[in-house]
Amino acid sequence: MIEIRYKKILFFQAFFLFVLGTFLYNYFKQSFDVQHVSSSFWMTYLGVWFFFIVFNLLFIKFFALPAPSLLKKLESSTTPGEDLSWSVIEDSLSKRDVHHQIIQSEYEIENLKYKILLDSLHDPVCIFNKEQMIVYSNQPFDHLFSLPANSSKASLLEVTRNFYFQDFLSKAISTNDAQKLNEFSFNPIQDSFKMFFEIKVFPLKNIQNYLCIMHDVTERKLADQMREDFVSNFSHEVRTPLTILNGQMQTLKADLEKNPEFQTKFKPTFDKIDKNSKRLVNLFNDLLRLTSVEKKKDLVKEEIEIEPMIDGLFEELALNYPLKTIKYTFDFRTKTFLVDYNLFEQVMINLIDNAYKYVGALGNISVVTRTEGLTDILEISDDGMGIPEDQQHRIFERFFRVDSSRSSEIEGTGLGLSIVKHIIQKHDGKIKVTSHKGKGTTFTISLPAH
Ligand code: ADP
Repeated sequence: MIEIRYKKILFFQAFFLFVLGTFLYNYFKQSFDVQHVSSSFWMTYLGVWFFFIVFNLLFIKFFALPAPSLLKKLESSTTPGEDLSWSVIEDSLSKRDVHHQIIQSEYEIENLKYKILLDSLHDPVCIFNKEQMIVYSNQPFDHLFSLPANSSKASLLEVTRNFYFQDFLSKAISTNDAQKLNEFSFNPIQDSFKMFFEIKVFPLKNIQNYLCIMHDVTERKLADQMREDFVSNFSHEVRTPLTILNGQMQTLKADLEKNPEFQTKFKPTFDKIDKNSKRLVNLFNDLLRLTSVEKKKDLVKEEIEIEPMIDGLFEELALNYPLKTIKYTFDFRTKTFLVDYNLFEQVMINLIDNAYKYVGALGNISVVTRTEGLTDILEISDDGMGIPEDQQHRIFERFFRVDSSRSSEIEGTGLGLSIVKHIIQKHDGKIKVTSHKGKGTTFTISLPAH
């Protein structure tokens, strides 16, 4: 179409110039009598005619005549190319379509794989968004909360009906960081029995969602509870007759002490019975303390003055070590601690008693308190026998006593530091030990500052 139009225009132009030239020539020839026309006018006329003729010829020679061949050339060079590019585009589009379909099906297969994988997990798992709406939940999750198969778009609060859980999720969303909740208990379905979960939430940063994994620890928790109940009941039951026996034996010993035969023959036996029954009473007392700390749910925290508490305990416990002359120094840079009074007092008793126990006859004990950033710190140090490095990591374990040969001379149950650790953990704090054999020991307690 384009080429033909150009051809027509070009030929029309050539034809028009030719007709115009011929017309002008005839017009001037008929209108003016050549006899009366001056020679200059005649020259002008001839010049104009000549110009048109030359222009016409040049136009035809250099433009109109070569135009068709030029157009042909253009046709041959452009048209097939154009056709080719269209077909290439068309081809690539259809290829892209196929590619897109392949990607789509690969994506669907991947999705299915993840779904099968997550559904086959034993733990309930869900993915939720910033508004705490479920985006995806696996079968165990749907089953746990009695949800229809596709529970997406439901709100997690509606599903769990637990504000504490909602707060925990809000924390994960606001910090955009992994969060863990230990032994979270709730009734997934109304009137169902209580279940315990260890819940972990991870932000899925590239898709702006969050992954929640709920690990069912109900069985472990129930077994722990049974163990705690057993230990506590057993300790209670044994402690009472033991205390009575101990009391009776003290009375008997006091009566017989006036007898000289008793002094030589029976006193060593009575002393052994006395010592071991006291050990047993101490052991059951410590076991009871430990289980009561483990069972304790809510702490009654209050701001306590640390100085009077430590002063009083040092004086009181010194009475148990009359043969030792201890020099103690205090540096209370942080004056108050936010703690459960009774539990924290137990911590101090155990640590100060240990310091007295394991320090030499002329030992030094110091207590320092300070605040570092968001942490209140309390350090109890002594220059006693220290703890060998290879055993330091075990001293907070139940019943662990360093080197039984040295421990047998010093009374103890191996439960004191375990009780301390449990109490500090209940306060969201940490305890660590730094010790060098023969040089001394430092226990450092870190608690959230108030
Ligand atoms: P125990 O009743 O035996 O003192 P603990 O749980 O209080 O039990 O302590 C565990 C072990 O840690 C002790 O047997 C002792 O060997 C060691 N230990 C604790 N405190 C100190 C200390 N201040 N200096 C040296 N050793 C210590």
